[in-house]
Amino acid sequence: SATAGKRLTIGLIPADGIGREVIPAARQVLEALPSSVLAARVGFVDLDAGFEYFQKHGEALPEETLAALKSDCDGALFGAVSSPSHKVAGYSSPIVGLRKKLDLYANVRPVVSGAAATASGARRAIDMLIIRENTECLYVKDEQQHEGPDGKYALAKRRISERASRRAGEMAFAMALQRDGMRRLMDDADRTWKGRPKVTIVHKSNVLSVTDGLWRETVRGVHTGNAAYRDGVDVEEQLVDSMVYRMFREPEAFDVVVAPNMYGDIISDGAAALVGSLGLVPSANVGDNFVVGEPVHGSAPDIAGRNIANPIAAIRSAAMLLERTGHAAAALAIYRAVDCVLAAGNVRTPDLGGSSRTSEVADEVCKHL
Ligand code: ATP
Ligand code: MG
Repeated sequence: SATAGKRLTIGLIPADGIGREVIPAARQVLEALPSSVLAARVGFVDLDAGFEYFQKHGEALPEETLAALKSDCDGALFGAVSSPSHKVAGYSSPIVGLRKKLDLYANVRPVVSGAAATASGARRAIDMLIIRENTECLYVKDEQQHEGPDGKYALAKRRISERASRRAGEMAFAMALQRDGMRRLMDDADRTWKGRPKVTIVHKSNVLSVTDGLWRETVRGVHTGNAAYRDGVDVEEQLVDSMVYRMFREPEAFDVVVAPNMYGDIISDGAAALVGSLGLVPSANVGDNFVVGEPVHGSAPDIAGRNIANPIAAIRSAAMLLERTGHAAAALAIYRAVDCVLAAGNVRTPDLGGSSRTSEVADEVCKHL
């Protein structure tokens, strides 16, 4: 293969709480990949960041961590960061810092149903990939309160740019084709989505005709401006309200969904609820030159330090990292091994109704590789 003999170096940033348990579990799975699916040799760099680190050292994202990521690593895995309930002077979230400094402009969140979802009575046949624009929209956090003749009012700015919209759109169409490629490696029975690749553009341009109008037009332009996308990917639009409605009524109708930052945030939490535990859902922060895999869950202080956190979200995040760095066969091997473990059902952490430990789930996934 093209990657034979190459090295793949992954930065590991467990950060806080259960991050310290689930990232080692993901590492164990990466180390257990047989050379038949991963020709590259994997190496790891242990890196500091997080709220606990901030409390000891006065910074949440040390310069050395950033420098090591940039100079030594092909990608990284981030665990979780605990968010202080009150504002702490000098503290800002390290994952938000990483997104900015590494220009990780899209948050990619696959939401997939499987044996665990079925067991917990959740919905069937969900295989959706949500692309959330990661840099602008209402997250520019430019708010002001004013005093008017009728009392106080507040304004928030919402930025939508052609550049950010185009980059998110590019990501969506490229991923739609890439997913199609992955599916071709699978047996028909394992494929949830059987149609042509499809991208659903989410917006509310009937109300926000200027901002969402620019978003919609720009993303559509990515489709019409590229022959491979025009020929290979269908495109549809959904107003965000009807998107939510349809997602709950027929989640199996969606392939790739692309949304501005705030709509994407809301939709993806809703989608995660459709498939069972927070401990199952991975994500990847993606830019042109770097990828940071990150489980969707937080640091879960209520269960931290007890070896009972579900490591599957982190393990799947590691697989996303492999997918993004050109190691599709290895990624697929992890996805399949996880599905086997979930389907067998005898080794599950407490969030899925079992009594297994974090480390036992990791061992079990390794056995199925
Ligand atoms: P943070 O402030 O870091 O987000 P949190 O208290 O909001 O912490 P989350 O990590 O968001 O905690 O988790 C919310 C709930 O889901 C908690 O009850 C937690 O125990 C549970 N949970 C989250 N992740 C996992 C996991 N990987 N395995 C099992 N349970 C989890
Ligand atoms: Mg939380």
